[in-house]
Amino acid sequence: MTARVLVLGGTGEARRLAAALVSRVHVVSSLAGRVREPLLPPGEVRVGGFGGPAGLADWLRAARIDLVVDATHPFAAVMSRSAATATAEVGIPLLALRRPGWTEGPGDAWHRVPSLPAAAEALSTRPGDRVFLTTGRKDVAAFAALPHWFLLRSVDPPEPPTPARLTVLLDRGPFTQTGELALLREHAIDVLVTKDSGGEQTVAKLGAARELGVPVIMVDRPAVGDAPTVGTVAEAVAWVESFSGGMFQG
Ligand code: NAP
Repeated sequence: MTARVLVLGGTGEARRLAAALVSRVHVVSSLAGRVREPLLPPGEVRVGGFGGPAGLADWLRAARIDLVVDATHPFAAVMSRSAATATAEVGIPLLALRRPGWTEGPGDAWHRVPSLPAAAEALSTRPGDRVFLTTGRKDVAAFAALPHWFLLRSVDPPEPPTPARLTVLLDRGPFTQTGELALLREHAIDVLVTKDSGGEQTVAKLGAARELGVPVIMVDRPAVGDAPTVGTVAEAVAWVESFSGGMFQG
């Protein structure tokens, strides 16, 4: 019998995990359907929400899923909580694959905040008008009431409400430190606002900010429950393989 594994995706790690698993197990990757032209993982792909934890539990039973790896973005907290509830209800194992967050080093000037509204509050009480916002298009609404000028970089354009003074740069990582330095200089950025997403693909902006002495408002990750968690694709593959006793094709 071939094990059936659901990978909750929308990240580079999820795509790499699907690629690593596709020849070993039956892998189904799930995407939320937010990005217009998503980068697709190999193997079976389904798109769209499940309809909350109950909908996901029904889907897991109908698709006869044996294992779930939650490889969603560290800020996709609703999906992660839904996965925890649904897998507990169905009685199947869940692993979270979550890349480690970024850590402040010498020369960095970070101000950690617990949420996007707290980031907006922090902006409103500090000097600096020109803001580089990399929190994603969905999160721009939290800054809509601010008078600052924003450079928003996102994969797809944002929807209202947005700040009155907004320039949108449509782009998708990975980004280089040379490119990030040029961007910060070109737009005379005073402050960078980012989520603590972690990973290599989008870390270059932090090095560029350090080099230019640009302060960073860093939004901390939301709490997402206590599923067993690994930080790398290789560990997630090993976790899937640990269930190989009789379940998987050799
Ligand atoms: P979220 O707030 O945690 O989830 C909202 C709802 O979207 C969920 O309740 C679920 O709908 C649906 N959903 C989310 N991820 C899904 C998935 N992989 N497959 C099927 N349905 C999914 O999620 P989000 O922050 O909007 O993120 C959406 C997607 O973008 C995720 O795949 C995530 O990995 C990716 N992403 C997010 C960020 C970010 O900063 N949040 C950044 C990069 C990529 P139902 O309740 O109907 O099941």
